[in-house]
Amino acid sequence: MSIQIFGMPVSRGVAIGRAVLIASSRVDVAHYFVPIDGVDHEIERLRDARDLVAAELTAIKRDLPADARGELAALLDVHLMLLHDEALTGATKAWISERHYNAEWALSAQLEVLARQFDDMEDEYLRERKADVEQVVERLLRGLTRSESEGDLGAIAMSRQARDFAGEDPLVLVANDVAPADMMQFKRSIFTGFVTDVGGRTSHTAIVARSMDIPAVVGAREASRLIRQDDWLVIDGDAGVVIVNPSTIVLEEYRFRQRQSELERARLDRLRHTPAITLDGEAVELLANIELPDDAGSALEAGAVGVGLFRSEFLFMNRGGDLPDEDEQFEAYRAAVVAMQGLPVTIRTVDIGADKPLDRMGLHELRHEHTLNPSLGLRAIRWSLAEPGMFRQQLRAILRASAFGKVRILIPMVAQLSEARQTLEAVARARQQLDDAGRAHGAVEVGAMVEVPAAALMIDRLLQHFDFVSIGTNDLIQYTLAIDRADEAVSHLFDPWHPAVLQLIAGTIRSSLDARRHVSVCGEMAGDPAFTDLLLAMGLRSFSMHPAQLAAVKQRVLRADTRKLAAALAPVMAAESPAKAAAQMLGGMAAH
Ligand code: PEP
Ligand code: MG
Repeated sequence: MSIQIFGMPVSRGVAIGRAVLIASSRVDVAHYFVPIDGVDHEIERLRDARDLVAAELTAIKRDLPADARGELAALLDVHLMLLHDEALTGATKAWISERHYNAEWALSAQLEVLARQFDDMEDEYLRERKADVEQVVERLLRGLTRSESEGDLGAIAMSRQARDFAGEDPLVLVANDVAPADMMQFKRSIFTGFVTDVGGRTSHTAIVARSMDIPAVVGAREASRLIRQDDWLVIDGDAGVVIVNPSTIVLEEYRFRQRQSELERARLDRLRHTPAITLDGEAVELLANIELPDDAGSALEAGAVGVGLFRSEFLFMNRGGDLPDEDEQFEAYRAAVVAMQGLPVTIRTVDIGADKPLDRMGLHELRHEHTLNPSLGLRAIRWSLAEPGMFRQQLRAILRASAFGKVRILIPMVAQLSEARQTLEAVARARQQLDDAGRAHGAVEVGAMVEVPAAALMIDRLLQHFDFVSIGTNDLIQYTLAIDRADEAVSHLFDPWHPAVLQLIAGTIRSSLDARRHVSVCGEMAGDPAFTDLLLAMGLRSFSMHPAQLAAVKQRVLRADTRKLAAALAPVMAAESPAKAAAQMLGGMAAH
């Protein structure tokens, strides 16, 4: 039966594929495809784990004290019986041999199937047996981790090479949530779309999906419960709808839309090398946001004239808590700088914390696990200043890379003047250390991200310390409106059109221009064509976004007349509903 699930559209386009469910929150296991010649070995791992668990259960039963035998022994018998039941081990084997899932994934997939069957049972006694199956599966999973070729726990390793093992159909990922670190693995993966139960428009999961340019719907609350492994799904990333097992007619309609959007993309692609100049001759700088040095290639391909935001924290993820040292960071920054062929690269120092923790088992994560509200805690520059050795290491690595091209350093989440002073001292110290060591480094500008209302409200003072500013609208909205950007329960209140937000953005742009400082927007508003006219009207001439968004924004720039837009700004800002007013007054701007 076909059903529709509604969520939030976070990455455009239509994806059609078979659902791959990633571990329910119940069990957190590794997910990867095993190669064809590894299937027998994987089945053997499962068998070994089963034998191990059977021996354990038998030993427990044997050692039961005489007075505890009765009921407990009967329960252990049930577990032993389940362990050898075809519905569990036989079916799990099929997930491995037919789908090439690793043993842990196969077990959790089968557990989902069985759990649903138990949930549907009328008989209460039988329904309660679900807990027994869960316990047996948990034992088996533990047994697997003890078997020799254990997978990398928690990792989602589904590389393109694995495609051969996964069958012909396109695959879409369905999960309760995907951590930003896992999303990075997912970046080089075979999935053509994804759906999560939780998350908001500017959650980092959504941001990475947009950077991958694949359709995504987040905050689709019940999705991972309602969708089953292998269901056919249509992910409508424009409307925020997921259609499960669509009818042939619906499927045809979406295939048609898919072809249309490919044509539209091809048309926009032709703008790639057209300079971004408005109708009245204003040059606009369109820059790229990147997460890894490899992304520089897609930035250039999309026609970006530089990198406006390199989110360096992604270099620190997926490393089991081990942090990259100065040389490793230097190599990564240099790779990005060299790849950009002389175009400017703005490297943001680590923005660790909030919804971007280090790896689960990382040192700092453990240290801060009791933080009450991570968004208001030791995050971004606060974290860096609390780890001065690590901060200077990063600064040295960036300064060294600046010998190979034009580099700017961007500081996240500045909220205090003392942070500005300490940061500049740290940069000076890092420079001195490089001089003392006789290492080459170039001239770099240091800029602040304006993403906390305090920074926007004291922008004039910040501009006395920094060479440039970049407005992070994602956090600026979160902190101005007190809306957790990752929480789908309040995502309807996450409003870029809110007058308070508009005032802070417009004020920051105006003050920066008055002080003759470079100002850019690198939050998601910069890549959304619905805001291009508004930001141009505010005087913005530098936008940084995911490479995939560049062409659509450029199209709006090419059609804009900044003089007319600037004249319409005041009434829009003063309007009861700025979104509606903008739609009417700033040309055909699509209201949100
Ligand atoms: C922002 O907050 O707008 C921003 C660009 O930074 P991030 O999304 O990485 O927090
Ligand atoms: Mg931010």
